[in-house]
Amino acid sequence: MKKGTLYIVATPIGNLEDITLRALRILKEVALIAAEDTRRTGRLLSAHGISTPQTSFHDHNEHEKSSFVLSKLEEGMDVAYVSDAGTPGISDPGYLLVRESVVRCIPVVSVPGPSAAIAALSISGLPMDSFCFYAFLPSRPAKRRQLLETLKNEEKTLIFYESPKRIARTLEDIRTIFGERSVALSRELTKIHEETLRGPVSKILDALKEKKAVKGEITLIIEGTRGHTPNNQGPEDLWHRFQTIQKTVNLSTRDAVSIVAAQTGLSRKKVYETILGFLKK
Ligand code: SAM
Repeated sequence: MKKGTLYIVATPIGNLEDITLRALRILKEVALIAAEDTRRTGRLLSAHGISTPQTSFHDHNEHEKSSFVLSKLEEGMDVAYVSDAGTPGISDPGYLLVRESVVRCIPVVSVPGPSAAIAALSISGLPMDSFCFYAFLPSRPAKRRQLLETLKNEEKTLIFYESPKRIARTLEDIRTIFGERSVALSRELTKIHEETLRGPVSKILDALKEKKAVKGEITLIIEGTRGHTPNNQGPEDLWHRFQTIQKTVNLSTRDAVSIVAAQTGLSRKKVYETILGFLKK
């Protein structure tokens, strides 16, 4: 018997308009939707007039529900899997189901869309030619610091998810262990109160202290070392940053200077004067 197809369907991370036409078609056409949160997915489905049956599939029933979904796929049913938000499996359940489907030669098809990690990276102003994704840091301070110690010399840009309750402590740990690094903190991406704070970690900490309480969903992007002394803000550091940006993306001098200014928290005038000094050499 022909096996069904497992579709891994990305859904919005906030703004309900961020769903692709193909995702809507697949969600309408499949026989069954396995959803991490059937109520949340139910709202998305009813907003688009989709009445496909759902079954719940989350962290706590992943093992038994994987067997159930796999049996439906073996019977020839097409199934879509959607997580709470964003891309399934990215710091969400889904890995087990995909792995078992692959082992059983069940076709697995991606229906791509949003992911907070990629959305935040894409607007961070930090290098995005190579990066590492670590999802959530350990909540226990000792474990968190231990992991950060292992990452302090990482050259690639680092991506973390973090809770609003822990963000200030995590940034304090980052400053202590990594030194003054450039970060981009994206909060509530695609939602009404969306904001991205960019600059050296101390500047972001000051900005957070000014708020009564930090709320919402947060993705944190941290600059890697890239082989230079991180964020020492000396002329060589600024020139290195400028060159890296120009090599990675083809930007005008003016735009590259603006990104270096955002990364370091220095004024555009100061950065421009320094870069001009190197360009004249
Ligand atoms: N699978 C999802 C994805 O692809 O983005 C991530 C799921 S993970 C359980 C949820 C975490 O992602 C949140 O706690 C937050 O750190 C981050 N996140 C989700 N939505 C976000 C948003 N709109 N803005 C910033 N970060 C977000």
